[in-house]
Amino acid sequence: MTRQHDIPSYLVPKENNPWSVYLEQIDRVTPHLGALARWVETLKRPKRILIVDVPIERDDGSIAHFEGYRVQHNMSRGPGKGGVRFHQDVTLSEVMALSAWMTVKNAAVNVPYGGAKGGIRVDPRTLSQGELQRMTRRYTSEIGIIIGPNKDIPAPDVNTNEQTMAWMMDTYSMNQGSTATGVVTGKPISLGGSLGRRDATGRGVYVAGCEAALKCGMQIEGARVAVQGFGNVGGIAARLFSEAGALVVAVQDHGGTIVHDGGLDVEALLAHVAQTGSVVGFAGAEDSIAPERFWNVDCDILIPAALEQQITRENAAQIRARIILEGANGPTTPEADDILRENGVLVVPDVIANAGGVTVSYFEWVQDFSSFFWSEEDINARLTRIMRDAFAAIWQVAQDKDVSLRTAAFVVACTRVLQAREVRGLYP
Ligand code: GLU
Repeated sequence: MTRQHDIPSYLVPKENNPWSVYLEQIDRVTPHLGALARWVETLKRPKRILIVDVPIERDDGSIAHFEGYRVQHNMSRGPGKGGVRFHQDVTLSEVMALSAWMTVKNAAVNVPYGGAKGGIRVDPRTLSQGELQRMTRRYTSEIGIIIGPNKDIPAPDVNTNEQTMAWMMDTYSMNQGSTATGVVTGKPISLGGSLGRRDATGRGVYVAGCEAALKCGMQIEGARVAVQGFGNVGGIAARLFSEAGALVVAVQDHGGTIVHDGGLDVEALLAHVAQTGSVVGFAGAEDSIAPERFWNVDCDILIPAALEQQITRENAAQIRARIILEGANGPTTPEADDILRENGVLVVPDVIANAGGVTVSYFEWVQDFSSFFWSEEDINARLTRIMRDAFAAIWQVAQDKDVSLRTAAFVVACTRVLQAREVRGLYP
């Protein structure tokens, strides 16, 4: 065991922050790593952390400063890879945890990347388009010393999108003096983006859900689905489940919680959200309920697709779903994991359930390097195959070792990362 004073101060876990959740997950996998456990400390320390000040001139002439981060957690298996998040609650602990979960995710689905993540502590809704662009460009320039197509490749995450990636790609290219499409993924199609990337995370959640349902003997047709977060992950997953005949009976977002016992019209709801920014006020809802009641909704499949630490020891016991698909990163705390396992709820962990996004990011990066672009059909077929294979491998480990799917995913992933670490050897 490492003594606390041996750990850099910013790594000392504070109770219940995302980094401490991640460390607990690593502690749970360590007994299953055999001789590789010798290297496990490497997973408890990000390789590199860059904190940057991001100043911009506001439209009214005043100067605003934002806190920006890029954390490269591990590069043993390849360049860093992971999204950039714009959110008012972003902290170093959060970005560290998110970067570490990228390491695990990329190894769990076996794409040749390490793990990284970035973020800016800002509520992007308070900025004009011009301010947002200036902030994104300055941030990209500041982290430009550590990112690059072969070094670390950002992508969209919460509150960032194709436009953000276009500005990042342009800024990096301008600084380099040549167009570098491979520096970010999740770009617009006109800029070397990939068909299927926008829907990929939601599609991966859906594929993982179908595999989990098969194992539980559950039919997707007629299954009752509740979704938290109706953005690029929750919205798309809801659409795919509903197209397959499931009933989306509850949706919660930052504005409120709506329900419909007979199933919401997901297409109409997506149009409402595109127009108003929230599910609140949707005419097709039967009712709206208090946020805490969302966890107790009568459903078969629950999809947390918003932020971390939503399912906790406070609400885990109320959950009535048989399957939880983690569209978000880190939505379930370790205590909640235990309660859910005890109650027979199958949790398909984030590092598998939402890995569809980074998988198609990998396809995008490969297409950019080869300047040869694939059809959407091809991309979706390859995505489905990778998701199914990863799910099957992890299911097998969970059976063999009698552990949760999360610990099984960590066993598979950490073994890959630490094997790479061991065979490379320590430099110098
Ligand atoms: N932000 C997404 C995630 O958490 C995608 C990362 C990527 O495509 O690099 O997995």
